[in-house]
Amino acid sequence: MIIHLKEGIAENKVAEIADAVEALCFFDGITHVLVNSSKVKAVPSHFEEFVDQQFIFDSDIQLASRDYLKETRPIQIGKNQVGSKSINTLMITGPCSVESQEQIEACAAFNQSLGISVLRAGCFKPRTSPYTFQGMGEEGLALLAEMRAKYGLQIISEIRDASHADEVINAVDIVQVGAKAMYDQGILRKCGESGKPVLLKRGFGATLQEFVQAAEFILSLGNGQVILCERGIRTFETKTRFTIDLCGVAYLKERVNLPVFLDPSHAMGYAYGVPDLTRACVAMGIDGLLIESHPDPSSALSDASQQLDFESFGKLFETLPGIANTIGRNMI
Ligand code: PEP
Ligand code: MN
Repeated sequence: MIIHLKEGIAENKVAEIADAVEALCFFDGITHVLVNSSKVKAVPSHFEEFVDQQFIFDSDIQLASRDYLKETRPIQIGKNQVGSKSINTLMITGPCSVESQEQIEACAAFNQSLGISVLRAGCFKPRTSPYTFQGMGEEGLALLAEMRAKYGLQIISEIRDASHADEVINAVDIVQVGAKAMYDQGILRKCGESGKPVLLKRGFGATLQEFVQAAEFILSLGNGQVILCERGIRTFETKTRFTIDLCGVAYLKERVNLPVFLDPSHAMGYAYGVPDLTRACVAMGIDGLLIESHPDPSSALSDASQQLDFESFGKLFETLPGIANTIGRNMI
């Protein structure tokens, strides 16, 4: 249940009510919001005088539900907005990992040349093997900060584990929580406390319920700036790296009040499929895309097979505004 308290209630009274109904509590700028289990269906009668509104749910998808907020939550990314009434589909591109000054600078200059405002690149990489490139760490974050200053770009980079969560949160404009980190409640709580936009990727074995409940950890700490990102789930199929769940995207758009991004690069795992998939994603009317691009994919230190070279990316990018316009959206 979500409870909106009346305005102007003293902090100690708010805490007493939250405690009594076993609720998490945050201030949303207007009102104190209390959220407890969806199994609780009524406020005890002796607290009713303090309650402005209450919302009852049949599952713990609560703050993220369109039954709570009908409209998609707005998220400001630099000068651009996604969600809310905006018809924007925001392109984010960049390499899988920061690898060197020259490499990330080539990527930043490429984004700027296409008018793409957000640069993606990981510095703490959640690799499947401990023997492969693990990312440049804080040195990579410093290079990203340089790219922000020099090219006027927004930066998104991922937190791999709690050991460097604060460093990443401080360094980026959007915090990425990767598929493998989706279940890490330490990271989710840090993101909730950060107040920064968070792009939460779906774990490749996570149901939609689990995915959205992971977002609830962030929302219930008072950070409403959460973007959901579908990046492929594991199925019986082995010819592609993962299987992109467009049905899941349709569900999220219908029932969940968070902007939805798609990452066809990690879903497909092979560059040859990424342009067609990207076009299919844009045609679904989504809020944004995350695509890996690299000046020389064959030499990339992570995800070499799926990154687009600049020529292929440029050709793809040209085809997207027309598709977005056909369904009443705008590529930015
Ligand atoms: C990435 O974005 O480079 C990444 C590791 O993605 P995911 O967490 O979806 O595997
Ligand atoms: Mn990658």
